[in-house]
Amino acid sequence: MDGHKYIAENLKRIQENVENAVVKAGRKDSPCIIAVTKTVPPEKVNYAIDLGISVLGENKVQEYLSKRELYNPSAKIHFIGNLQTNKIKQIAPYINFVESANSVNLLQKLSNCYKNFGKFADILIELNVGREIGKTGADTDTLPELLDAAKSLDNICLKGLMTLPPPSDDPSPYFYGLAELAAKYSGYFPDKPILSMGTSLDYPTAVEYGATHIRIGTALFGKRDYTT
Ligand SMILES: *Cc1c(COP(=O)(O)O)cnc(C)c1O
Repeated sequence: MDGHKYIAENLKRIQENVENAVVKAGRKDSPCIIAVTKTVPPEKVNYAIDLGISVLGENKVQEYLSKRELYNPSAKIHFIGNLQTNKIKQIAPYINFVESANSVNLLQKLSNCYKNFGKFADILIELNVGREIGKTGADTDTLPELLDAAKSLDNICLKGLMTLPPPSDDPSPYFYGLAELAAKYSGYFPDKPILSMGTSLDYPTAVEYGATHIRIGTALFGKRDYTT
């Protein structure tokens, strides 16, 4: 495990930065740190779980399926990647939280599939707040129809919003914007909606603007190795 010690040091630094942002913003609660596991070997992920990480963020269906049996099962899984409708059935038996619901079609397919399995999924609507071409996430203009669909469909439960803004010197307008949308449509959400926003690049700012969940990959596990 000695070779994984840098993960403990990274986590400590992240937690310090998060606490500083919490104090700066005058928040009472701290956000949940989701460990984003893409390309990270299961033993490193499990080391992070031993350090107190309780939620894993999974991007790719195949990669998740090849690693899932090796993960310490105590961590909860959030699916955060672009989800093709024909792959929902592969994750539905194991994952009950999908952060990347970004179209009415996907919401309908999620509902049907979880219903078929007799299961339920918590979901977030993923918004493309940066209006980037080619980026996943729904256009913010379509939020009302997504909210109505999510509300009306069986076996999926809307918990909040998620975004992955473009890299930016000042990402605060994106985070502020997501929080504003959750406030504007508060009737669709639980009392304390989930705001999943902020990555290694920008999580302190996201925390200042009310992130309840931050999704951290490289700042925790180091640079991703796509060759393995
Ligand atoms: C990879 C990824 C992250 C984490 O990015 P890092 O820069 O490694 O922290 C967060 N959210 C999503 C949707 C991702 O795909």
